Amino acid sequence: VVVHATRRSKPVAPTEEGVLANLRSLGVRVTTPRRLLVRSLIEAGAHRTADELALEIQALAPDVHLSTIYRNLDELERLGVVEHAHLGHGAASYHLSEVAHGHLTCESCGKTVEVPEELFAPLVRRAKSEYGFTIDPHHFAMVGVCGRCAHRRAEKSE
Ligand SMILES: [Zn+2]
Ligand SMILES: [Zn+2]
Ligand SMILES: [Zn+2]
Repeated sequence: VVVHATRRSKPVAPTEEGVLANLRSLGVRVTTPRRLLVRSLIEAGAHRTADELALEIQALAPDVHLSTIYRNLDELERLGVVEHAHLGHGAASYHLSEVAHGHLTCESCGKTVEVPEELFAPLVRRAKSEYGFTIDPHHFAMVGVCGRCAHRRAEKSE
């Protein structure tokens, strides 16, 4: 029996110190709002909207202005440290760029599954070769119905 090694390499979890070191190497001063943004994004382990991040940070540092938090989030995104994705109809979600991945979002229960970018590779290749179009597979989620909801729907219609 031939067991094929999985091609999916396990992503290394980012650390606060690692991300802050990266910021310093980009010539960015590590201020309280920036440090707390990075910490919230790491601790979230999931997706956070700008408003959720702002609330978390204000709870930790009440003297940091909301506008300062939003401005710093924009700046971290411009630097390529943070990126956002649209998972559904609501506000965009943020995560650290080093954990970039694709998203499958269920339009029935709202659950989002993170998937490796390679999943979209055949689509990306064909869009490029046949239409000259470059797909960005992680800016928007792929929307559909998750296995559990599909199963429930099938049971209902029986
Ligand atoms: Zn966008
Ligand atoms: Zn994500
Ligand atoms: Zn679902």
